[in-house]
Amino acid sequence: MNETKTADFIIIGGGVVGCSVAYYLANNGAKKVVLLERGEICSGGTAKSCAIVRTHYSIEANLLHAVESLKIFTNFDDYVGGDVGWQRTGYLILGPEEHQEPMEAVFRKQNAYGIDTAVLNAAEARKFHPLIQVEDVDVIGYDSMAGYADPHLTTTAYARRAKDFGVDIKTDAPVTGIHLNGETKTVQTTNGAYESPVVILAAGPWANQLGRMLGVSFPYEVSRHKVITLKIDQPYQPDWPIVKDLTTPDKIYFRPETGGVVLVGTGDHGDPIEDPDTLRDHVDMDHVTRIDGLISNRMPAFEEARFIAGWTGPYDITPDWNPLVGPVPGYEGLFVATGFSGHGFKLAPTIGEGLAQTVLGQEPRVPIDIYDMARFDSGQELHGAYGIGSIS
Ligand SMILES: Cc1cc2nc3c(=O)[nH]c(=O)nc-3n(C[C@H](O)[C@H](O)[C@H](O)COP(=O)(O)OP(=O)(O)OC[C@H]3O[C@@H](n4cnc5c(N)ncnc54)[C@H](O)[C@@H]3O)c2cc1C
Repeated sequence: MNETKTADFIIIGGGVVGCSVAYYLANNGAKKVVLLERGEICSGGTAKSCAIVRTHYSIEANLLHAVESLKIFTNFDDYVGGDVGWQRTGYLILGPEEHQEPMEAVFRKQNAYGIDTAVLNAAEARKFHPLIQVEDVDVIGYDSMAGYADPHLTTTAYARRAKDFGVDIKTDAPVTGIHLNGETKTVQTTNGAYESPVVILAAGPWANQLGRMLGVSFPYEVSRHKVITLKIDQPYQPDWPIVKDLTTPDKIYFRPETGGVVLVGTGDHGDPIEDPDTLRDHVDMDHVTRIDGLISNRMPAFEEARFIAGWTGPYDITPDWNPLVGPVPGYEGLFVATGFSGHGFKLAPTIGEGLAQTVLGQEPRVPIDIYDMARFDSGQELHGAYGIGSIS
């Protein structure tokens, strides 16, 4: 029989958030940190992510995290060490008339944080993105500093640097039980048990499976999110702007992908599912046809586009579409980071850092208290200017 091992900190989940927390814990002085991942590093929701990093947020806390995380993405080798495959593209945001005011308000806030933005007319937008048709759009915004990273490179870079600082990363180590014995928590895996006074649940859409082991329920629901990739015969440049189209019912977004392919996702709620383990990669052709229609309207050159591939990933959506991060009330030494609601990749660097500092009793460099789960009971939900959705 395996003997129980001890640790000072246990993180459950090896997605971008868990690996970021692990790195910042170790980098901020924590010893004996163990990360338990049931599969491989980056095998959950992060593996399906479009990994777009933009700072256009109307909620100040999100904006601040996005700005500070953007600095890390763009200079990852200096801040952390390693390569995240950063590609700067800029970000075009297209909206109906009622978005003009909120968009300009966000731009003013972004400018105060040093982000370069502009309101464009159709001709100016086409200078950045020559295939785009925006005659039916009332307001076009642009942010020159956004881009995308590679989710695998980012997550494994955090994991590798965490290892360099002494974090013990266990893959193929599914957690099957968590028990409280006074201050000590025993975390059971299929390969043995670990004891620690501190446990951090960073299992994204699976957080409630772990919560159930302790009788805790986190307020989020899981939904399916489909991404498809399309290709046309003419070149599609890797640095053409990401486009977020708030005029479409699905709030589609698209960005360049390697090989001249365009990757298209949606910003709607998606179909809810009970259990993230029932999620299958399959994307139905009705979805492809519908998205193809929306893309062809926005880029007429895509009328003859070829469907290349599609996949489905889980969103963990909280009631206000914002993350749930911090101590779990009533459970000394238990922390959670979940409910990223489809926009957790871009926030993972500073949320990981802030949670690590909170766990260590340090003042977070970028505050995370606004993401405390108590907000759902105290009427302090975080609602953004664009209404419910991943652009809050
Ligand atoms: C299709 C799609 C597109 C997206 N696009 C963007 C985007 O463009 N920009 C952006 O900012 N965000 C985006 N997101 C959201 C972002 O990717 C996620 O918020 C983020 O990756 C979540 O990371 P995580 O570490 O919390 O969760 P995950 O990556 O899901 O990690 C959780 C880990 O926990 C592990 N785990 C689960 N149960 C157990 C257990 N019992 N024992 C041990 N380990 C366990 C899982 O295997 C998994 O590896 C997108 C998400 C999806 C699905």
